[in-house]
Amino acid sequence: MAEKILAINAGSSSLKFKLYAMPAETVMMSGQLDRIGTKTSSFTYVIAGKQSKLVSPIADFVAAIQMVIDTLLSSHVIASKTEIVGVGHRISHGGKYYSQPVLVDADVKAKIHELSVLSPLHNPVNLLGIEAFEKLLPAAKEVAIFDTAFHHTIPAKAYMYALPYSYYEDHGIRRYGFHGPSHEYIAQRAPELFGREQTRRMISCHLGNGGSLTALLDGQSVNSSMGFTPLAGIVMGTRSGDIDPEIIPYIEEELHLDSHAVREMLNQDSGLLGLSGISNDIRDLDIAAEAGNKRAQLALDVYVHQIQQYIGAYTTDLQGLDTLVFTAGIGEHSALIRQRVCENLGYLGVRIDPVKNEANALSIEAADSRVKVAVIPTDEEIVIARDVVQVLGDQA
Ligand code: ADP
Repeated sequence: MAEKILAINAGSSSLKFKLYAMPAETVMMSGQLDRIGTKTSSFTYVIAGKQSKLVSPIADFVAAIQMVIDTLLSSHVIASKTEIVGVGHRISHGGKYYSQPVLVDADVKAKIHELSVLSPLHNPVNLLGIEAFEKLLPAAKEVAIFDTAFHHTIPAKAYMYALPYSYYEDHGIRRYGFHGPSHEYIAQRAPELFGREQTRRMISCHLGNGGSLTALLDGQSVNSSMGFTPLAGIVMGTRSGDIDPEIIPYIEEELHLDSHAVREMLNQDSGLLGLSGISNDIRDLDIAAEAGNKRAQLALDVYVHQIQQYIGAYTTDLQGLDTLVFTAGIGEHSALIRQRVCENLGYLGVRIDPVKNEANALSIEAADSRVKVAVIPTDEEIVIARDVVQVLGDQA
């Protein structure tokens, strides 16, 4: 019998979801709630290919989820709340505790709360999402899917920081890697599309508002650019990515900033926004750079350069490169960024076809490219839904 499973991806003030009939993986309804907690909250959803949008204040996550459930019922997507047997939640940080998805219980919630210090923008809202569903869909089982879990195959030589060893042993300070469901989706989907041999040594570039690159060897993560927290790695929309660690105590002392203010600066005021002073959105920077804005050009130059650096480093980890994948908002839609990243990778045998690249085609490599270059839309929600089915199956 078909099981109805909800996949939830909660951000700081947004919530994306898809309702699946499993195991067929049919999407019965998908939607997104934005600016939750403001007067101009919006709810956009698609049922049977038809899109609808509501704009009205949504007070909090409980109100948002109630709105989703009411719409599912009033649109006759479900006849009763009890039809939804499982809810999968994407959770940012699983720390040292989780390398697999788990059924949520009091201990799991306590651990997610404990790990909030490591992912302050995400873990607390992830927990709010779980608690709201426990309240509103008491018959459903909640499953936690950790962003860090897919990266449990990274070897110690790549996850250890060269700090006193006790920091690792006593405080779990190491590289974890994030965007697990997205990189896992690419690791599964690329071999389906291009075959195993062509995808043995692969780099997945998840370039969204947050961004990370993962080195995939035979479908397993062997290195990933985010670190102990999702602040590390490449430049992001508003996050700094990698910086010299000495900068932090230096500005704390010079500018008399406390750790809270520094953390906010690094997470919210840095990255493409901080460099350009204009926007965190590649589309705005592209327009400004075209018009001659030097700081927008600089922001794009730094962004592209850092992605190229990681591709070079990960090609060393993989001892070669068979397929380079672009995914997420920028990876899927920005022909400019893909073209600029690839134009310096000729030494690796990467060459792209400008026409295919402009068209966001699935394969964008030129006929004489040694490396396949692919644009694969990510689907974190299907990975979440499959994990829910697996965990509920293990419980049965
Ligand atoms: P999130 O990390 O919040 O899930 P997304 O993966 O949706 O973000 O990526 C959002 C970013 O994608 C935007 O900030 C913007 O820079 C970029 N983007 C989205 N659409 C386009 C487009 N058509 N062209 C260029 N960049 C785009």
